[in-house]
Amino acid sequence: MLWWRRFFMGLGDRWLGLTIAAVVLVCGGLTWYGMSKLESFYRTMQLATMPMWFLTMIIGSVISALIYVSLLFGMFSKQDRKNIKGKEVNVHFSDVIGIDEAKEEAWEVVQLLKDRARLKKVGGKIIRGILMQGPPGCGKTYLAKAIATEAGIPFISLAASDFVEIFVGVGASRVRKLFKDARRKAYAQGACIVFIDELDAVGRSRTFSWMGGQETNSTLNSLLVEMDGLQESEENVIVIGATNAEEEVMDQALLRPGRFDRKIYVDRPNLEGREKLFAYYLGKVQADPSVDIRRLARRGVGKTPADIENMVKEAALISTRNKRDKITYEDISEALERIELGIKHRKSMNEMERRLVAYHEAGHLIVLYMLHPTDDVFKASIIARRGTLGVVHHNPREELHTHSREKLMADIKVSLAGYVSEKLVSGTTSNGVAGDFQHAMVVAHDMVWRLGMGSKYLGDWQMMASNGNSTQLSETVKSELNAETNALFRSCAEEVDRLLTKERPLLDRFASELLKREELEYDDIEAIFAEYGKSRPPVAAKPKSDSSS
Ligand code: ZN
Repeated sequence: MLWWRRFFMGLGDRWLGLTIAAVVLVCGGLTWYGMSKLESFYRTMQLATMPMWFLTMIIGSVISALIYVSLLFGMFSKQDRKNIKGKEVNVHFSDVIGIDEAKEEAWEVVQLLKDRARLKKVGGKIIRGILMQGPPGCGKTYLAKAIATEAGIPFISLAASDFVEIFVGVGASRVRKLFKDARRKAYAQGACIVFIDELDAVGRSRTFSWMGGQETNSTLNSLLVEMDGLQESEENVIVIGATNAEEEVMDQALLRPGRFDRKIYVDRPNLEGREKLFAYYLGKVQADPSVDIRRLARRGVGKTPADIENMVKEAALISTRNKRDKITYEDISEALERIELGIKHRKSMNEMERRLVAYHEAGHLIVLYMLHPTDDVFKASIIARRGTLGVVHHNPREELHTHSREKLMADIKVSLAGYVSEKLVSGTTSNGVAGDFQHAMVVAHDMVWRLGMGSKYLGDWQMMASNGNSTQLSETVKSELNAETNALFRSCAEEVDRLLTKERPLLDRFASELLKREELEYDDIEAIFAEYGKSRPPVAAKPKSDSSS
């Protein structure tokens, strides 16, 4: 078979040409043979249609080529139509509310941008990339716009998801086009800010991009190339990326010096921030002056500026529906509940069922009020909403980042209170306690097994030594830990039982009020407790910050 191999070796680079020639020869031969067999009329017909065939084919290919090229160079890209906004952003620093820490850092950036010339003279480092990180709805876009406005430079924005396209290479070309625009603007107006939202859409660590990975990678690469190009270029282009992903998820290449090396964390507003936000948004609508903004701010723990704006809008709708011309506290409270739990829907319950639900919620309410060291009761309701028959709203009085033993114990007691109360009044309980029970059990288990908070502080060192991995524990230790958990659980239940038995008149009163009015607001709750001579326990001292680890 040597001749065969030698033949192919001899072909060398020419095999492609030879193959094409062979195909053309065979096809041409067949056509010629077929044509010669046809009668002359048919032959003429074939010949007549052929030019049209060619024409259609050529036009078709030209069109497809044009489409591909135009996609590649971003002719159809969305960025021209909606995303490029020039100088008219006009968001001032005074309009950015509730995120004071991030604002301070952003202000520093503005100073650096303004003093760029001076900075160059003293050889300072010039910022090219800023990464804004934080939960969605906290005002990252707003802050970026404020930087642009305050520094007086143009602002181009684009969501990174716009880069990610089906066609390979299109995302990369869009990145190039974006930076070209930015450089042009910077050349004309001194500097330019490029804002890329949802940066994680392209900037996710490359090992994680299992979906459409190839295209994302080429987009990311061109972004990196463009950013590195900024280091040498004369034009002042600053890239601000925003993401709500964790830093570990981001591709490390993006965070290297010279790229997104300056970070601003835009966090949820604290109590003071929320107060300012409520005051700001309520100032924009017709609000009743009696609305207690401080209480709203306390109730809105963990809410973002966008949530608060949304709440006020929803409250405005509700007050319009109720034909009121001013927004009241009840409207906002209702709006919050609607956003968190869905709209009310009246279930037809018989009196027995309603009574049980009322006692269940009254139990939660009393234990929460009298025993919980950190939480405040805001509202109790027995109106059914998505998946719940009733609810007691409570929030920490201030943001806590660690949980003390007392707080966790109180959580268990509050959860168990619904069950205990049902049992006290009817001698039986319903399946409505399942969620409460599970929550209580999870907390108790965690306390003993993970946090070393059992009554004998037993699990402590064993669990730490085994790093939370229960398979490494001996059976004896496991059964001891289980006994600890049970004891903890039982002591909580007993305490709740004692309290509710002692406060039975209060329990009856709250249940009957709930049955009558369905909802009890902060002031109503406060008034009833005052009537019985009860007051909230004093605010517990803040636990030391190292108690969480
Ligand atoms: Zn419950």
